[in-house]
Amino acid sequence: MTAATVATRSENVRARIVAAFDRDGALARAVPGFAARPSQAEMAAAVYDAIENGSTLIAEAGTGTGKTFAYLVPALIAGGKVLVSSGTKPLQDQLFRKDLPAVLDALHINAATALLKGRANYVCLHRTARAESEGMLPTREDVVHLRSVIRFASTTSTGDRAELAEVPENAAIWPLVTSTRDNCLGAECPRFAECFVYKARREAQGADIVVVNHHLFMADLAFRDDSIRDFLPTVDTVILDEAHQLPAIAADFFGASLSLAQLLEAGRDARSLGLSRAPDGASWITLTHRFERAVRDLRLALGNAGLAIGSRTPVERIPRRADLIPAFDELDGCAAEVLRALEINRGRDAELDLLIGRFSELRRELKDWTQAVGTPAHAEENEGPPDPTEQSNPSVRWISVSTHGAQFNQTPLAPGQALARAREAQPQAWILTSATLTAAGRFDHFLAEVGIEGATTARWNSPFDFPQQALLYLPKSLPSPNDARFAQVVAEAAWPLVRANGGRAFILCTTLRAVDKVADRLRQLMALDDQQLPLLVQGTTTRRALIDAFRASGSAILVGSISFWEGIDIRGDALSLVVIDKLPFAPPVDPVVEAKIRYLRRIGRNPFNEYQLPEAIMLMKQGVGRLIRDETDRGVLMILDERLLTKPYGKVVLASLPPFARTRTEAEAIEFLTRRPSTGRART
Ligand code: SF4
Repeated sequence: MTAATVATRSENVRARIVAAFDRDGALARAVPGFAARPSQAEMAAAVYDAIENGSTLIAEAGTGTGKTFAYLVPALIAGGKVLVSSGTKPLQDQLFRKDLPAVLDALHINAATALLKGRANYVCLHRTARAESEGMLPTREDVVHLRSVIRFASTTSTGDRAELAEVPENAAIWPLVTSTRDNCLGAECPRFAECFVYKARREAQGADIVVVNHHLFMADLAFRDDSIRDFLPTVDTVILDEAHQLPAIAADFFGASLSLAQLLEAGRDARSLGLSRAPDGASWITLTHRFERAVRDLRLALGNAGLAIGSRTPVERIPRRADLIPAFDELDGCAAEVLRALEINRGRDAELDLLIGRFSELRRELKDWTQAVGTPAHAEENEGPPDPTEQSNPSVRWISVSTHGAQFNQTPLAPGQALARAREAQPQAWILTSATLTAAGRFDHFLAEVGIEGATTARWNSPFDFPQQALLYLPKSLPSPNDARFAQVVAEAAWPLVRANGGRAFILCTTLRAVDKVADRLRQLMALDDQQLPLLVQGTTTRRALIDAFRASGSAILVGSISFWEGIDIRGDALSLVVIDKLPFAPPVDPVVEAKIRYLRRIGRNPFNEYQLPEAIMLMKQGVGRLIRDETDRGVLMILDERLLTKPYGKVVLASLPPFARTRTEAEAIEFLTRRPSTGRART
């Protein structure tokens, strides 16, 4: 083909893509309710250009642009193998079951599709059979759940646990009937041919379009999993939706963590496998009980070293951290004994042999931590210029402590470096998109966080008519967000609007403590006014149950913290008031935030302008984005943070939000809310 022919072909494909979004195009003909939007067609053309050039496109598409179709249409028409990664498993399911079939159908494209999740999502036939034969389940509930899993495994074609609603997500049975990379026997497994994990992977390898989630994608890039890596080089287009989540997920996966629960599980596995596969091979009960006691002693030592329940503490701030060294040494000694026993019995059983690698790795991590707690504090609190090794891989070590457990974490402070290296190793086009990638219209912060160089950036504002559809209410005379009574004031200021609106409100707080205080005060106010509205409060049940209850109610008030600021799509009158207590700055006492601030300062950057403020703006945009979800939505956004008007950075935040009409008076806000009668029903 000559260059001219290639160019003509590209132009034709591009024209076909743009035409699909026309008023009378393929999508309008096939998708009920489809509305032609110029920004959607423009984004689709930009995605196609990136695919053609094998380049990276970073695209911010405001709410309502229709970004899912804007990337699916060009990717499907361009052809080749496509990998789409979404932020969460529910979004992944929706993309696979709803959006992807709709676009394939509209375009009359016949392509093989596959849904691929991490291995913990699939029932492991081998471990399920083992759990059944060992029959040592501690509770009656576990027995009931195991029976459900066994029944499910015999009828499902996917083994995807999301299809088994009767066993809750957090049921204790799941770790026993799913696999990890450490305990999977792979090709040596007697159930390998029928294994759900490998079946899903084979389907993904053969499919034209594979839908994954960011956790799986990152786990693979960080060499923590191997679901995608085998076929990633054969992929022509990688699409990362909800890309604003990537830096945080990359920080999790390119870092390292070791929990006491993980250690205890290794001990349990060594005991049960040792006893069943090599009963005469060692004193398994004595060895593993000693190991488990050392794990519990380490938990006690953390308390004695000054770490309180609920704390998240960087290593250098542990009050008496040298006291931890004997506990680490003792645990390592016990792990070494178990490892020796496993080595002696090597070759007797494949599953038992897998524990050798696992205990070796645990010992390596324990040694790292022993060394870290033994390093003098001043060596880590250095505020001077960075040493070259730190610049290549800066990280913070910190420990979180819960009532019975603890987790040892090492979090990279520049996770984008690893992500960028992974991107450079892949030759295909990458499309990163989200509704929130910019702060004050600039991509600088996101680009710095993901570390990807040479990308094309593009933005499309939301097509909604914000000045008409929404009102931003900034109340007067508020106390500082640091005031002890602030949460009560939030509830008292919001209540007149909530009451006038008949509920149908989200109250988004920045902390869990504020959630409880706001909810308590709202209860009192409802009692005083003798007006009871359904009050749904984070922490009383699961996030999904709260959102479902909100949708079903039509007059509810939902009070939630950061996890409710994004990923919730409630259209129509059911949600017409969003109250935000304050600017969501990450707490500077958080060990990762604190270390990152120090690191940025050391490398000569401005942590507030280049990190804290843009992060807060991106989260603020997510929270604000809950209100107007389509062209017919109307509502009031109320923000109770005076700093928006009194601080210079407040103006930057306001300039980053959609162009709402504004008021400072309660009466106008109530008038806006009550101007139109509403049905109180959610549209889906
Ligand atoms: S191959 Fe691994 S995941 Fe599959 S059944 Fe066997 S142990 Fe389980």
